[in-house]
Amino acid sequence: MVRRAPVRTVTAVTPSMVQIGLSGPALRDLAWQPGQHLTVLPGSPAGLIEALRKGWRSYTIWDYDPRGAMELRVVTHGHDGPGARWAASVRVGDAVAVTPPEGRLTVRGDAPYHLVVGEETGSVAMGAILRAVPGGVPVHGVIEVDTPDDRPDLPRGAEIDWAYRNGASAASSPALLGALKTLRLPEEPGVAYVAGEARTCQKVRAHLIHDRGWPRADIRLHAFWTA
Ligand SMILES: Cc1cc2nc3c(=O)[nH]c(=O)nc-3n(C[C@H](O)[C@H](O)[C@H](O)COP(=O)(O)OP(=O)(O)OC[C@H]3O[C@@H](n4cnc5c(N)ncnc54)[C@H](O)[C@@H]3O)c2cc1C
Repeated sequence: MVRRAPVRTVTAVTPSMVQIGLSGPALRDLAWQPGQHLTVLPGSPAGLIEALRKGWRSYTIWDYDPRGAMELRVVTHGHDGPGARWAASVRVGDAVAVTPPEGRLTVRGDAPYHLVVGEETGSVAMGAILRAVPGGVPVHGVIEVDTPDDRPDLPRGAEIDWAYRNGASAASSPALLGALKTLRLPEEPGVAYVAGEARTCQKVRAHLIHDRGWPRADIRLHAFWTA
């Protein structure tokens, strides 16, 4: 069921990421697990069918309050697309509808440690996951952004490494994989969460399986976009 809730806040997180807060009674008591996403349908009720027909964009829930509020974080990646256009133009009071939260990129409770890997778009899921990891359980990770100015705040962010593209394309970027290859991890596998550009995600998984000997089952991967 689609739920309608107006935009309550629009805040710049970095020069390339905007945080959008939605709230209203329709958002109360959703079944949400950290790491899950939903589909956003901006516009008036009359525009809903059109937005659905065009196949609107998915966004991870950065944080959720069951009293009826949620925060999304959207990357304004500099290329023309409906999602980036929405993020650049969204205003407080705009009408939005969202589908129910879904997805399997969620925290596995029995992990000896958690490894988060992704670029800006993936960082939203990684932040929600890092917030949900029980205190005392180790976390490791690499997040790729363009420059240090593009680093979003993340729960347990001091325990995470950063990789920079420095103006190179985010599509199939070597920076994330390069940084992951040099990351010191325990000998035994933990649970990995991987999200972002599709080809990079595949390379990250191949590295964990073939170079580090991780079982495929210990890698939770969701490709968020393709070039
Ligand atoms: C499960 C899921 C969760 C997601 N969560 C988030 C989230 O929390 N935050 C978020 O910002 N996005 C998230 N995404 C990605 C989001 O749905 C869109 O794919 C993204 O916003 C691009 O949509 P667009 O309409 O702006 O561009 P599109 O119309 O899809 O693409 C237009 C052009 O922009 C390029 N492009 C698209 N995305 C990027 C990018 N990130 N960097 C560089 N170039 C790009 C494309 O290659 C293409 O050339 C998620 C996707 C999925 C599937």
